[in-house]
Amino acid sequence: MGTYAVTGSASGMGAAVVARLVADGHTVIGVDLKDADVVADLSTPDGRRTAAAAVLDRAGGVLDGAVLAAGLGPAPGRDRARLIAEVNYLGVVELLDAWRPALAAAQRAKVVVFSSNSTTTMPMVPRRAVRALLERDVPKALGSLRRFGRMAPSFAYGASKIAVSQWVRREAVTPEWAGAGIRLNAIAPGAILTPLLEQQLATPAEAKRIRAFPVPIGGFGDAGQLAAWVVFMLSDAADFLCGSVVFVDGGSDAWFRAGDW
Ligand code: NAD
Repeated sequence: MGTYAVTGSASGMGAAVVARLVADGHTVIGVDLKDADVVADLSTPDGRRTAAAAVLDRAGGVLDGAVLAAGLGPAPGRDRARLIAEVNYLGVVELLDAWRPALAAAQRAKVVVFSSNSTTTMPMVPRRAVRALLERDVPKALGSLRRFGRMAPSFAYGASKIAVSQWVRREAVTPEWAGAGIRLNAIAPGAILTPLLEQQLATPAEAKRIRAFPVPIGGFGDAGQLAAWVVFMLSDAADFLCGSVVFVDGGSDAWFRAGDW
């Protein structure tokens, strides 16, 4: 049985992952704003540092895996774009930087990062914002999104998920990750019925846009089903999975990119 860190453990897909891991007999250290083993705000540098250290302390310096599910959706709001950049991007990469030695210590650790199918289905996300996030320069990223006005949070969301997918693919194959036996992968869900999506559906204009989005299979995904994919990506069956972004999205990515392979 292993020890796993799960961020965003109090709700939605993170909570569903925790339930499955605990049912399988694993030890889980949950991180969230409330109702978690480690209560921390991943939108601040101090919160990220505290969360990273508290998890390492509880895990005794060895982690068999980590699931980075904490995230904010593209809802409107004054400070929302910054919060999205900090939680969805820095809340992944800074924690994984800190946890890498503990993951390496487990020898065959597995990490699953939550990206999104917005990476390939959302047009016009400025590359400059993605590059700035990869440089960990949030003010610069926000500067390049300012022209989108009220829509800035949507583009911050797209940029945060593209950046996190690129980071995963870039790092996964390096001596520090693959070379240390750590399997680093991402999952890219489509619209999954969780509190995050419910918040978006509560705004009529947003709900209309979401329901008009092409999903060949139809409907919304289920948090429990996505959690089953994540647990599979943490299992021995995923020993040869490295740097992959697994789309579980009812066919939207294939619909938009039917000509790609
Ligand atoms: P959710 O809102 O149910 O859960 C997200 C969790 O993250 C919450 O418990 C929340 O408290 C936590 N969180 C938010 N801000 C935080 C902060 N500052 N510090 C610590 N924790 C914080 O959402 P979900 O749908 O389960 O989303 C999980 C992941 O999947 C997110 O990264 C999201 O972007 C991604 N995703 C979701 C969908 C979807 O349709 N639901 C689609 C694609 C990707």
